[in-house]
Amino acid sequence: MQVSVLASGSKGNAIFIEMDGTRLLVDAGVGVRRVARALGELSVPLESLDAIFITHEHSDHVKGLETILKHTGAPVYARPGTLRAMTSDVLPEDRLFAIHDAMDVGPLRVSAFDIPHDAADPVGYEIAGSRKCTVATDLGYVTDTVRSAMEGADVLVFESNHDRQMLRQGPYPWPLKQRILGNRGHLANDEAGRALANLKSRPKKIILAHLSETNNRPSIAEETVSRAFAEIGVTPLPLAVALQDEMVTA
Ligand SMILES: [Zn+2]
Ligand SMILES: [Zn+2]
Repeated sequence: MQVSVLASGSKGNAIFIEMDGTRLLVDAGVGVRRVARALGELSVPLESLDAIFITHEHSDHVKGLETILKHTGAPVYARPGTLRAMTSDVLPEDRLFAIHDAMDVGPLRVSAFDIPHDAADPVGYEIAGSRKCTVATDLGYVTDTVRSAMEGADVLVFESNHDRQMLRQGPYPWPLKQRILGNRGHLANDEAGRALANLKSRPKKIILAHLSETNNRPSIAEETVSRAFAEIGVTPLPLAVALQDEMVTA
């Protein structure tokens, strides 16, 4: 299995996952040139994608979709509410399909699970074949559903959006701070750390993702998450940090 976060953060998100000969893209929030260049570094032609899965309709997850679809015939799957909320007048409707709970793409089982976030019907994805990869970003807090999707993942792409202190003292207007801190906003570093440290079945690799460029730093996210492991006395897991402008491979 290969998991490469092509871009991650409030300006655009896309994750490439290859498992058992099947190639998936989760989210299409960066333009086609960026995606093609990153996949090119992995020797993966854009046309060879088998399917694209969308987590929710926020523009940082879908704004590249229109152009990407001109370069690949891959079908796009999202929850019905997300499909309706996407500006589908510019998207070819014959390429968009609904996923409810789970479906198969070749040998892979892709399951959509609910996440608490201020979008129409936001989800994370659990992709299972000979290995398992779970993607959970854009979540206000860690629900039991999210926790069980995280368990047993070999690779976990998990939100570590902000440092609470930096967010509170930072430049964002108060309503936006409230939105991010709220139950349908984004996950803080310390919450991400606690959720990861308390997993029963520890992942082999963790990629911290969707870091705020204003209210976080890769080093702070890493330190805070590592501290959560230390606090409950478990050995820290190796962490990678996904970036906005650079591809990070697990
Ligand atoms: Zn987002
Ligand atoms: Zn979002």
